[in-house]
Amino acid sequence: MNIIIFGPPGAVKGTQSEFIEKKYNLFKLSTGDLLREEINKKTTLGEKITSIVKSGSLVSDEIINSLIESIVSNKKYNKKIIFDGYPRNLPQAKNLNELLLKYNQKIDIVIRLKVSLDVIKKRITGRLVCSECGKIYNEFFNPPLKNEMCCKKEFLKKREDDNVDVAIKRFKTYEDSTE
Ligand code: ADP
Repeated sequence: MNIIIFGPPGAVKGTQSEFIEKKYNLFKLSTGDLLREEINKKTTLGEKITSIVKSGSLVSDEIINSLIESIVSNKKYNKKIIFDGYPRNLPQAKNLNELLLKYNQKIDIVIRLKVSLDVIKKRITGRLVCSECGKIYNEFFNPPLKNEMCCKKEFLKKREDDNVDVAIKRFKTYEDSTE
């Protein structure tokens, strides 16, 4: 089963994908996570895309499409992918169609999350991510409670693009190119 999880930034696509991934033994393919990994590792690709991701604009389709092909073509993930954050515009959607045909796969379900801009702002500005295990908390909706925490407080970080101005820009990019 392949799934696309779709919705604006801050719609908790990442958190919901993790639940689905565990429950159905699938693989979460988050283009945002893949890009942040390149940035943190300071690879050549990472350096090229840092300012684009920080500003809330979209990274070029060529870069994204080649990241996607490396996973869709991998037998390990055959018919087991949750696409989180992809496709994000029409050329990416067309590319996904071609890749699915090429590797004899299809999309079985599309889940669309609808959230208002006010809630999105809180979700984004309150988001904390554990830099060790990737667990996601939120200062307003899901605060890291001392005795329930698996992560040390100093590992909890805000994403660089999680501030109000960039959140509004990301929401606008979603409305203009994705929705
Ligand atoms: P969100 O959807 O919450 O904004 P993501 O982690 O999905 O967060 O994406 C963070 C950033 O990574 C985006 O603002 C964009 O710069 C880049 N990015 C992620 N996925 C794509 C994609 N499919 N195409 C182009 N850029 C992308």
